[in-house]
Amino acid sequence: MSETYPAGPGRYPAAAPASQALFDRARALVPGGVNSPVRAFLAVGGTPRFMARGEGAWLVDVDGRRYVDLVCSWGPLIHGHAHPEVVAAVQAAAAGGTSFGAPTGAEVELAAEIVARTPVEQVRLVNSGTEATMSAIRLARGFTGRSRIVKFAGCYHGHVDALLASAGSGVATLALPDSPGVTGAAAGETVVLPYNDVGAVEAVFAAQGSEIAAVITEAAPGNMGVVAPRDGFNQALARIAHAHGALLIMDEVMTGFRVSAGGWAGLDPADADLYTFGKVMGGGLPAAAFGGRAEVMGRLAPAGPVYQAGTLSGNPLATAAGLASLRLADASTYQRLDATAATVGKLAGDALAAAGVPHRLSYAGNMFSVFFTDAEVYDYDSARIQDVAAFRAFFHAMLAGGVYLPPSSFESWFVSTALDDAALEQVAAVLPVAAKAAAAAGNGG
Ligand SMILES: *Cc1c(COP(=O)(O)O)cnc(C)c1O
Repeated sequence: MSETYPAGPGRYPAAAPASQALFDRARALVPGGVNSPVRAFLAVGGTPRFMARGEGAWLVDVDGRRYVDLVCSWGPLIHGHAHPEVVAAVQAAAAGGTSFGAPTGAEVELAAEIVARTPVEQVRLVNSGTEATMSAIRLARGFTGRSRIVKFAGCYHGHVDALLASAGSGVATLALPDSPGVTGAAAGETVVLPYNDVGAVEAVFAAQGSEIAAVITEAAPGNMGVVAPRDGFNQALARIAHAHGALLIMDEVMTGFRVSAGGWAGLDPADADLYTFGKVMGGGLPAAAFGGRAEVMGRLAPAGPVYQAGTLSGNPLATAAGLASLRLADASTYQRLDATAATVGKLAGDALAAAGVPHRLSYAGNMFSVFFTDAEVYDYDSARIQDVAAFRAFFHAMLAGGVYLPPSSFESWFVSTALDDAALEQVAAVLPVAAKAAAAAGNGG
């Protein structure tokens, strides 16, 4: 265990020698040096911090620096790092064998927990959010016998070929692939629409409704920064899809079990047919799920003809971590997450306002992000009008002061119940310095 030294405004130098050495070595071995792109700090520049361990609200990197963690593994860690009950559950599971390739009681317990908390009647466990959305799309196509999918620009549903498609602003177009390697055929059945635009959804269904298998949407988007659905938007999606015999897939991989016990559906219910979950339900291990009405889920193999499978699905360690995390997450957990998110957001907003930095706080439950613009943000195009230079300076000043933010201004900030007074004081002490750095670097400065 490395020695650590305390955080404080401006205390950590930009050079991070141990992280830099690992990054240099990693880049020879792993494309870009990381196993998921946003970890590489491309949007903010500088050396990504390699982590040594997590302790409650804190991350400790390989240079021995401590950071208040406002990423929480991109959402899963609502109880903070290494919560003793989660660790104990995983240790007990590991001691009993790590995988059987046969069903276990814990999988039934986790399924029961998910069914009790959410609108789904049946659920299938998988290993990642990507797998969950990929499988939900296949099931929707198999159920309806149709092939076209409607998604929204700025919504991320994992790296599924058919969903790695975006499009120009404003108009409904058949999508072009976002990534080399995604074929026109895979993306060509995907229609991309502007988020929060009911009229665009109505228009596309009027024109091609009989060919559309499903609309997929983030229950409340967090992958273009946090952009909440307008009142009635999700309900309108259900109404329009159902009027045309299509399904609504509500992607709750990020919101599920984070924004309330029942996810976004617990705050703003809409009559969706399928739901996808991940992140929190794995408690920091790889577990995800998709579920929905029994009539639809019953088409899935082996009950029905739509094939879906997984060697490690329902893995005992992941199931134990998820179950422990969900059982810990009671009403007081969500009250605390909401209150802490409000506190951190207010601290950030006050500091930026005092420094004269144009900004806008955007909440969806206890997920929130800070957009470096003073214009309204309601879809992907409006989210992209941001002062990225100001964010970069802000991010690095926070990092230098011992606060780990998402390394992109198009991401949600995440809080955990482990954020105690000491952690919040740390955030409060660093924010004014970071806000001044943003003011100096921004377009207005
Ligand atoms: C994270 C995320 C995914 C993908 O989950 P992975 O486990 O990273 O594959 C899908 N949908 C949403 C809304 C997400 O936030």
